[in-house]
Amino acid sequence: MIQNTRIQKLNDRDRRVDGGYVLYWMQEAQRPHGNAALETAIRGANKYGLPVVVCYGLMDGYPEANSRHYAFMLEGLRDCAEGFRDRGIAFSVRHGMPGDVALALSDQAAAVICDRSYFPAQVGWRKKLAEKATCPVVQVETETVVPVDVASDKSEYAARTIRPKIHRVWDEYLVPLDETDPDVSADHLKFESDIDVEDTHAALETLDLDRSVKPVRRFRGGQREARRRLNTFVNETLDGYANGRNEPSAGQTSFLSPYLHFGHISPVEMALAARNADTGSGNDSGSFIEELIVRRELAINYVAFEPRFDEYQALPDWARKTLEDHAVDEREYVYDRETLETCATHDPHWNDAMREMVHTGFLHNYMRMYWAKKILEWSITPEAAFDTALALNNKYFLDGRDPNSYANVAWCFGLHDRAWTERPVFGKIRYMNANGLNRKFDMAAYSEFVDALVEAEAV
Ligand SMILES: Cc1cc2nc3c(=O)[nH]c(=O)nc-3n(C[C@H](O)[C@H](O)[C@H](O)COP(=O)(O)OP(=O)(O)OC[C@H]3O[C@@H](n4cnc5c(N)ncnc54)[C@H](O)[C@@H]3O)c2cc1C
Repeated sequence: MIQNTRIQKLNDRDRRVDGGYVLYWMQEAQRPHGNAALETAIRGANKYGLPVVVCYGLMDGYPEANSRHYAFMLEGLRDCAEGFRDRGIAFSVRHGMPGDVALALSDQAAAVICDRSYFPAQVGWRKKLAEKATCPVVQVETETVVPVDVASDKSEYAARTIRPKIHRVWDEYLVPLDETDPDVSADHLKFESDIDVEDTHAALETLDLDRSVKPVRRFRGGQREARRRLNTFVNETLDGYANGRNEPSAGQTSFLSPYLHFGHISPVEMALAARNADTGSGNDSGSFIEELIVRRELAINYVAFEPRFDEYQALPDWARKTLEDHAVDEREYVYDRETLETCATHDPHWNDAMREMVHTGFLHNYMRMYWAKKILEWSITPEAAFDTALALNNKYFLDGRDPNSYANVAWCFGLHDRAWTERPVFGKIRYMNANGLNRKFDMAAYSEFVDALVEAEAV
């Protein structure tokens, strides 16, 4: 089922009667299954007896993306190529600005379906396509469980304010997506691709991009790998998630955030898998679904409704005021970016977290909090700390540049949180220290865990 509230017409054009196919411009939901935008395109094509064509515009030098991100994304596109071929759908990957690639192919299309993004630049691409295309452009929201405008019509204050709004309607959206293959195969259509995604290494070489951050071995991109990880999670690790999810070396979480970021897996599919799992208690699946839906969709709400989502100035007034009051406090340690990036601070736990991030592109949620809080403590001003944390987050994490990146870095500076006991440098912002880590977790085990991960990347 595809709920009508996921679907929006972006222009008022009539279907092009001599159009040769229905075009799906794939951007956010880079997957051949569990994709409501693709299924909408297939249903439309079947109604008019047309084949389905999917296009993807691959641009050089996407802001803040480097070869780590591109390599993972190309692995996902390779899965798409295989999945589309199996379903009789044509797939064209073209070198260029995504909106321009879609516009060029819309020329011969009966209609264009696109998925939804929340970032202003990408919202702008869709708007431009809708203005210029001479056929209908229809947007389908694929990357949330509850569509962002259904959940709320404003920037929410905290998890506690959006949670009841999401809970009220989520049953309507927590339903499986039925798949239908196209009635008319696109095998006869000859669509050129400028980039052959079957050979991801060669494809990576052809692109002009920042190569300073290397691809990782720890995560292989694509829907096939995402589904394998989801399966392992619900069968083996969901049991105990509620209590174990905070332990940095326990491996108790799903490790699916990079796949969610690139649209390699659907959040609805993940939530249903956890809900219907034979393992784990209600508390385990409830806790996972709270993170996956309430927390993740609060972050999407922030990016959708706060135009300055990537700026320090968008933090709540109370947070900026208390940080300003303490901006002159003496810092015991101040580190520049190079010291941080070379994992050379006085704090072994922080250095371990940074090593995991630099070498493997991922970090456990609890350590991410500690990591960003310490950057606040060790920077000359809170504004500089915010910029450093966000830049490093987006540079190294495979799941960086996501709504979760912006909302969660900002959370460490007071967004969606409340005031705590006042103390130097942090003011009333929630504080974390190494004693807390040592008291709660086996940090020696975490250090060994990171050693092993870093060694595996070096082989
Ligand atoms: C400073 C900081 C920076 C972060 N940067 C990012 C980022 O760049 N990209 C990113 O995707 N997440 C980010 N997070 C949120 C969170 O740490 C990761 O989503 C999570 O660690 C991913 O691991 P997992 O998939 O195994 O999570 P699981 O525990 O398996 O959770 C399942 C899914 O729920 C969502 N989720 C889990 N925890 C959170 C949370 N605290 N807030 C919102 N959604 C959550 C994620 O989509 C995650 O994949 C950040 C958190 C902090 C504190």
